[in-house]
Amino acid sequence: MPENPYAWIDRALNTIHKANWHRQVRAIASKAGPVVELEGRSQINLASNDYLGLAGDERTIAAAVAATQKYGTGSTGSRLLTGHRSLHRQLEEAIAQWKQTEDAIVFSSGYLANFGAIAALTNPRDCILGDEYNHSSLLNGAKASGAAVYTYSHADVADLQEKLQQYRWQYRRCLILTDSVFSMDGDLCPLPEIMDLAHGYSAMVMVDEAHATGIFGDSGSGTVEYFALSDNPPIQMGTLSKALASLGGYVAGSANLIDFLRNRAPSWIYTTGLSPADTAAALEAIAIARSEPQRRETLWHNISQIKDKITEIVTPVNDRLKLLPSDSPILCLQMPDAQSVVTAGKTLQERGIFAAAVRPPTVPTSRLRLTVMATHQPQHLDSLLAAVKSIADDSSKRNL
Ligand SMILES: *Cc1c(COP(=O)(O)O)cnc(C)c1O
Repeated sequence: MPENPYAWIDRALNTIHKANWHRQVRAIASKAGPVVELEGRSQINLASNDYLGLAGDERTIAAAVAATQKYGTGSTGSRLLTGHRSLHRQLEEAIAQWKQTEDAIVFSSGYLANFGAIAALTNPRDCILGDEYNHSSLLNGAKASGAAVYTYSHADVADLQEKLQQYRWQYRRCLILTDSVFSMDGDLCPLPEIMDLAHGYSAMVMVDEAHATGIFGDSGSGTVEYFALSDNPPIQMGTLSKALASLGGYVAGSANLIDFLRNRAPSWIYTTGLSPADTAAALEAIAIARSEPQRRETLWHNISQIKDKITEIVTPVNDRLKLLPSDSPILCLQMPDAQSVVTAGKTLQERGIFAAAVRPPTVPTSRLRLTVMATHQPQHLDSLLAAVKSIADDSSKRNL
């Protein structure tokens, strides 16, 4: 009898279990917010991408409900056929206006935006240079494009220059890809230096603003505004799924670039348009993010409080615990090994705090990843700090 062609899946799954890499979903039973109900318990939420606290806001919810009542649940087709509503265009115009670009295009997810844009911009005659810590959607989009893919050391402009020197002129076009805020570390890419270098080598640059949209710059439009690069901006990609509290992705840039993507990005042409509810929620979230800068102020205040206090707590044990350098709401407490981060994760959970314990191979070193929200209240942050203190005490005891 021939072997069962699916038997390899059992073996692969076994390997995943043996390596302690198996992952499972956990259901949140309440509305999005700074406190959520998880596995029957109320937990302070330090694991969400909803940085401005808009996913549970009455106004974004009302916008989604109204759009659903008007248009129905699904968009029912590709944007080029039955999937386009005036709402989609309004959202694209709102993004372009916010970003100060000529136009923008909305995809059905951030992942699809990266796949589609990279596939449209490059092909096997071209090369792509990407930061080694880039998001999976940039890396896999680059691989799928068929272009030659090279990685440079994390945020290392000298290494990027070396790679440009070595490879750029062996190819027709060159595309540099980088996260602006790195999702697993929380640090910023050196965007002004990258733009300068790219200019000298006639290279395109696309920056992934997933964790910067709504947060950086006075109006919250992202790091191009923050670094004052709007005269000569990179292609700006981002998601509607993080601070904008919805689902979907976008690319913002020149009118010609966007028109080209509408004609050449397969993940835009051959997929169903964003649902009316998601589109309307994102549109409302942009309006709130722009008109309520106090949300950003509170967010940055919360970030600096937590950073300062965690630094105070871990400094006495800083050979075992280290707060990684961060410029964003993503704060990572690095721990010596996978076992200690799993134990620390349990301590947090027992104390009613929901945070991610991230281990290799997802990241190079084990860490607790904490994400701060504008809607965290002082008592939430106090509970977090008390828990971090207990983890630090425990760690210094074990070190004795
Ligand atoms: C989340 C994320 C994406 C994917 O966006 P989705 O809208 O969730 O598909 C892309 N890039 C980065 C850096 C991200 O963090």
